[in-house]
Amino acid sequence: MTRVSAANGGAGRATLPVMAASENGRAGMVAAMALLRKGGRALDAVELACRVTEDDPNDHSVGYSGLPNVMGEVELDASIMDGRDLRSGAVAAVRGYGNPITLARQVMEQLPHVLLAGRGAERFAAANGHAPQDQRTEEALQRWRERFAHYGLDSEGDADLRELTNTLTRPLNLSEAPLSAGSERRFGTVNFLALDQYGDLASAVSTSGLGWKYPSRVGDSPIIGAGNYCDNRYGATACTGMGELALRVSTARSLVLYMKLGMSLHEAGLEALRDLAYLGGVPGRYMNMVAMTPQGECAGFTTVPGKKYLYMNEEMEEPALAERVRLEESA
Ligand code: ASP
Repeated sequence: MTRVSAANGGAGRATLPVMAASENGRAGMVAAMALLRKGGRALDAVELACRVTEDDPNDHSVGYSGLPNVMGEVELDASIMDGRDLRSGAVAAVRGYGNPITLARQVMEQLPHVLLAGRGAERFAAANGHAPQDQRTEEALQRWRERFAHYGLDSEGDADLRELTNTLTRPLNLSEAPLSAGSERRFGTVNFLALDQYGDLASAVSTSGLGWKYPSRVGDSPIIGAGNYCDNRYGATACTGMGELALRVSTARSLVLYMKLGMSLHEAGLEALRDLAYLGGVPGRYMNMVAMTPQGECAGFTTVPGKKYLYMNEEMEEPALAERVRLEESA
């Protein structure tokens, strides 16, 4: 656990800005911290950070160039939450538009709703002046084709999508013929949590979801309470990994609720890991969380070894990587 004390802000400041993110959030975090240093708001910071990641063609887990679904279509999910009043916005299974985090924020600010999915979300994007843009890149499609080829399947064929999804998304058996580096990756999402100098928290999550998923499958990322939760009074949490796990035990809300009930950040994270452990471990299907207290203390948690997360406060020049806590190591 990383203690980034926020209690030592300068004169006239409530807190020292702090951010936490998943490992792929480095560039977004640097851009967002520059905003926070200038007195920017946590909500603007997490949106900006997500947009930077969404626009990165080298990140195949989020936004433009995300891994496609089983049919070779990119479908994006995102959510944002304001810790001041628990207002939230989300979009799911959006095709043909980029920056889903901005759409999510616009849902929150313009509609009496929290979540828009599919065609309605795309219509809303057009109404808000978002330019349609194919989110597929040749590199992401190449991974999709490789995955089919790995199992001797035809990506253009008319095989039953249920069977294809079950085959393509199952964790790889390492004794099977090797795939090129990166092709075995099916997971990936970006998480950002921010505390600003006014003492406000915000959280944002953006993803292209599980690679090779069934069309319109929605994971935890756009579901408030599962993949994202933020409350100024008790803290914030966001998740990456096999979204079905966080959906089943409401991971993000649970971790924050455990803090509300009096647990420390560390204890709350372990309790959320125990919830996940009850689902039974399937190799290759894991869950990770980043979490932050209202004072800016950060931690990362995971069900598998070797996972890290990023944190940064305004006094640091660069984001720093820290180990995520596992249940087994804390026993
Ligand atoms: N949690 C995301 C989902 O299930 C994917 C991921 O984080 O890898 O859609």
